[in-house]
Order: sequence, then C-alpha cells, then structure tokens
Amino acid sequence: MTTATQKIDIQKILADRGLDGCGREIWQKRLGEITPAEVEWALSRKPGYYVLDRLLTLVSPAAENYLEKMAQLTQQLTLQRFGKTVRLYAPLYLSNYCVNGCVYCGFNKNHQFPRTRLTIEQALAEADIIAKEGFRDLLLVSSEDRQFVSVDYLCKLASKLRTKFSSLSVEIYQMTTDEYAKLFAAGIEGVTLYQETYDRDLYDKYHPAGPKADYDYRLSGVDNFAQAEMREIGIGVLLGLSDWRLETLALAEHAHYLMKRYWQSRISFSFPRLRPAKDVDRRQFRLLSDKNLVQMILALRLCFADAGMTISTREPADLRDRLVKLGITRMSAGSKTNPGGYTGKTGSVEQFEIDDKRTPAQIASMLKASGLEPVWKDWDAGFLLPSGST
Ligand code: SF4
Repeated sequence: MTTATQKIDIQKILADRGLDGCGREIWQKRLGEITPAEVEWALSRKPGYYVLDRLLTLVSPAAENYLEKMAQLTQQLTLQRFGKTVRLYAPLYLSNYCVNGCVYCGFNKNHQFPRTRLTIEQALAEADIIAKEGFRDLLLVSSEDRQFVSVDYLCKLASKLRTKFSSLSVEIYQMTTDEYAKLFAAGIEGVTLYQETYDRDLYDKYHPAGPKADYDYRLSGVDNFAQAEMREIGIGVLLGLSDWRLETLALAEHAHYLMKRYWQSRISFSFPRLRPAKDVDRRQFRLLSDKNLVQMILALRLCFADAGMTISTREPADLRDRLVKLGITRMSAGSKTNPGGYTGKTGSVEQFEIDDKRTPAQIASMLKASGLEPVWKDWDAGFLLPSGST
C-alpha cells in the first residue's frame, strides 16, 4: 500500500463519516437526541470494544448523568488489562525556536522573546537530573526547529541517553518514514503526534503559518511513524480548539484505523487541555470542564480496553489523583516545559504553564497511597537494537 493511498484512507474515513468538520451539525443533532435508555443499553454491553455509535452514546450530554457507572466499569476494565500500575515519565524540552504560527502556543514564531536551544551536552545535563529523580522513561520534546534539532542531533542524543533511560520517545515536528526509521534505529521507540483538531476549518484558523498549516499533511504524519515500526503510537487533540464530543469521535476513528493497520504497535491517547501560555489570549477557545474531560477518558476506555492513556502535569493535582483510578496508565511528574528548565540555567520561556507542581517523589507517594504501583521502567529500548550495537 502506498503512502498516498494511506493518506487517502484516513482522509476518506473522516470525510465519509462527516468527522472532519463537514458533518458538524448532523453529529451535534444526533448527540442531542441520545436518550437515557440508549446510554443504559450502551453500558449494559461488554465494555472494551469500539463501535462508533456506542462511543457516540457515551460522549453524549445524556451520558453525563451516568459518569459514576462509567467510572466503575472503567476501573474494572483498566485493572483487568493493566493491573495496579501507572507508568511515570518526564519531558525534556530541547528548543523553543519554531517555524509555525499555532495560535494557542507560547512558542508561536510570531511571539517575541529570546529563544533557547540546548546543545547535546546541555540536554544531557538536564537528563542527568531527570534520571536522578528516578525516571527511566524520557520524552524528548521540541518545537519545529529542524535546523538545530535535526534527525542527526536526535540520533546522537538518543545514543548517549540509552545508557540511562530504558524508554525514549519523542513529541517533535512531523517527519518522513525514513527519518522516523533513523530515530527508531537510534533507540527511540515511541512517537506522539497531535492532530490538534480534526475539524478542517478550525485547523486552518488555528494554524495560519508554517509547514504545520497543512491539515492533510498533518493527518498523514502518524502513518509515517507507524510504518517505521514505532512500538508506541501516540495520538490526541488539543482540547479547547473544537467541540470535544466530535473530536472524541474523530480521534476514535483515527485510532481504530491505526489499530487495524499497525496492530503490532500500541496506540495511546493523550488528553492535553489548553493551558495559559505567554502572549496567548485564551478567551477565543472552548475550554473543556473537568467533568467533560473525565467523560471523554471514560468513554474512550470503555471502547478501547488496551489503549494507553496519558495525562500530563497540565492538569491540577486533585484531578490527576482521581484520574489515575479511572483509566489513566501513564503520567508525567515534576515537568519543566522550557528548554533548560531542570538545570534552571537558561531562564527560557516555557511552552505553557503546568498545574500539578508536585515533585516526582510526591507523585510516587500519591500513587502508593492510592493502592497503585508507580512504574519507572517497564520496557528497555535495548530490546530493539541489533545485537552487538551499543
Ligand atoms: S504547537 Fe508546536 S509547532 Fe505549533 S508553534 Fe507551538 S511549538 Fe511550534
């Protein structure tokens, strides 16, 4: 199957379902017509299997009155599939130079502030601090700064980090399959790429400039790293850009499409909500309530039993404490969202404000007090490397 065909596949699925924004009103009408009896029927079915109509019912306004029942089912299902464990990871920001103009982001190329890039030595110094805190799962994050955070840079950095971290993943700009394959060969085994919003009109509005402004190009990105055989495939939307109920349906269709084609990889959902960021006016966004965020997580878990689910320090401590019992399988702790944030040497601008400011040790204690086991390492990227390589 060619890349072009795959691009058409996911585009076509979303267009045919009216989930790229073209069927907005029809879906909203259907959501409003869901009855309590339909929600009860959906909840009486065996949980963990995806059917679009079932998910539609679970994200409907009518289902808001059934969150307690959904939470009970979610808890049981997550326990069955993942046990009493939550993986811990830390993000390491490498650069805040960017060529894109995403309206919601503090690193938007139009914002005026002194930019920072970490040399490999500076990044390693940051990583040392993260490793000393106990983390073995590291997420490398960068804005779209290809000139500096190049594929070679990432491969060199990964080769040096492999001795300290058992799992390396990236949240960076979109690459080709060949480029992702180089990262994979260097020991990076997971990629997360957010579509941000599946609504084409809103995508265009919030992404006015840079390579990321092309909706279809963005939509093809996950196929690129899935074809490079990444072990972990992360997807998500930025919650606050569009109607969260329709975004959940589109996200689920995307996940379903990926699971059928790349069954060897694990699909994970992340749930980033818009946070305050430098020079970003938040009044233009549709901020999502805690209640609806919980509903989205529960609904997706009840349709995707084996999907990873990640929540970051964007969210407040009390909400995260509740979410770890409701389907979440991986969480960040002690995060810094600016390059150089762990050593504190650069004084650089952060991408957004975090909310849960507890230390990694405090997060681990919270998990233990909740009857959960914090997992600092559950995989070793060395499994992926050819024998004899270092
Ligand atoms: S969201 Fe990412 S690509 Fe967009 S401006 Fe921010 S750092 Fe750049």
